Amino acid sequence: AQERYASIRDKPADTLCGQHIKLKMNAGLMADLPSLEGSGAEGVGLFRTELQFLIRSHMPKRAELSELYSRVMDAAKDQRVVFRTLDIGSDKVLPYMKAEDEPNPAMGWRAIRVGLDKPGVMRMQLQALIRGAKGRHLSIMFPFVAQRSEFTAARAEMDKALERERILGHPQPASIEVGAMLETPSLAFAPDDFYREVDFISVGGNDLKQFFFAADRENERVRKRYDTLNVSFLNFLEGIVYRCATTGTPLSFCGEDAGRPVEAACLAAIGFRTLSMRPASIGPVKSLLRRLDLRELRDVIHSERDSGAETVRGAVMEHLRGKF
Ligand code: PEP
Ligand code: MG
Repeated sequence: AQERYASIRDKPADTLCGQHIKLKMNAGLMADLPSLEGSGAEGVGLFRTELQFLIRSHMPKRAELSELYSRVMDAAKDQRVVFRTLDIGSDKVLPYMKAEDEPNPAMGWRAIRVGLDKPGVMRMQLQALIRGAKGRHLSIMFPFVAQRSEFTAARAEMDKALERERILGHPQPASIEVGAMLETPSLAFAPDDFYREVDFISVGGNDLKQFFFAADRENERVRKRYDTLNVSFLNFLEGIVYRCATTGTPLSFCGEDAGRPVEAACLAAIGFRTLSMRPASIGPVKSLLRRLDLRELRDVIHSERDSGAETVRGAVMEHLRGKF
């Protein structure tokens, strides 16, 4: 199967209807980076920076991090890397940070909530990212933003870090994009101003689905009850696509579903144009996309939805038969 995908590695993920879907990869460790070339990914859509913090027994130093981010950008050459700031707290506890005892860690003091309440580490990380960029382009996204003011405050931290670095004589990035991960349903209904303020939105489908269905992503028993192709969830995602289209906000999807060919095809059919996934998924997803007319698939999804089905999976599988 790997050979089959090797033959399309350098071919674009273009559908039969002429739509290009950007396939990017998720990463987090230096060891992931050789995959950028091998997989045919168009850049890194999600670099999980917390992994570098989790594999150490001590808080990494700023210089150590900036060196690492610089090497990541070197390895990516001219491709963009979207660095997600620390997504820690609660269940992802750093061995050198005092753990909070929380009844519902996934909905607790995590990610940007920690970053804003105790900004020391986030500031250090932002500085390290700016230094690592060494005057190149820099893309950053904040995890688990649930309301606009959190993004505004985080972006202000970024602006302060840029100013501090400028005063210290470090080069400013040639260009900067600052985005938000959409992982809580609340953001889908945020005012238009939020959509206009962010440079891009990346849907973190793993968390978003967990909170949409109120089903713990770590708990197989409840997680498996709810299909990603459930009509309610697809309607919800279509609403996000629509809002981003009307506000001109670049949108991508970076949860695990982006790397599952059937789910990825449906995401593309409802309007997602950038998908970020583990490197090994790029071949299978691309292979399927290249055999699809997304308009046909969208019609299948909509007519199945309009017929009152709970999930469109059956109809979608029927439509995709023979295309894998
Ligand atoms: C997500 O929630 O979909 C996501 C990409 O982030 P993580 O899986 O690291 O929470
Ligand atoms: Mg997440």
